[in-house]
Amino acid sequence: MTKRPDWDEYFLKLAMLASERATCPRMHCGCVLAKNKNVIASGYNGSIPGDDHCEDVGCLILDNHCVRTVHAEMNALIQAARRGHAVEGASAYVTNMPCTTCAKALITAGIKRVVVFSDFHDTLAVEFFNKAKVTIDKRLMPSTEINYDLKKYSSARV
Ligand SMILES: [Zn+2]
Ligand SMILES: [Zn+2]
Repeated sequence: MTKRPDWDEYFLKLAMLASERATCPRMHCGCVLAKNKNVIASGYNGSIPGDDHCEDVGCLILDNHCVRTVHAEMNALIQAARRGHAVEGASAYVTNMPCTTCAKALITAGIKRVVVFSDFHDTLAVEFFNKAKVTIDKRLMPSTEINYDLKKYSSARV
């Protein structure tokens, strides 16, 4: 019997799942916004609607960064905005430490806690989060396995 994941692990794993949809080969990121044990929105780094994908046509590099994709955190915030879901006071579960721009967007959107398992990279994100009193919780990376076996449930049919 595998251990039941706690809430942080669960949302981080959902963020990892979202990252599988990412389209930029330089980085696959996922983000889940959650509040009161519920998912508000999710996102991954991908092109703007209708644009080519990096993995099909190559990255669009400017100053050593790929600028084609909308980042996972931005996409999650935008998805919430498009559907009219408030994110004030929510937590952001991200597969990779947000970049400076995403950190600023999360702070300004009223995100109060960031849960992450990757290391800090060369950005001002941590400094901005600290200034804005956003909690950063570093967790271990959840297992990359999904423990699901339909056959073991007596009421299931495969
Ligand atoms: Zn790219
Ligand atoms: Zn970003």
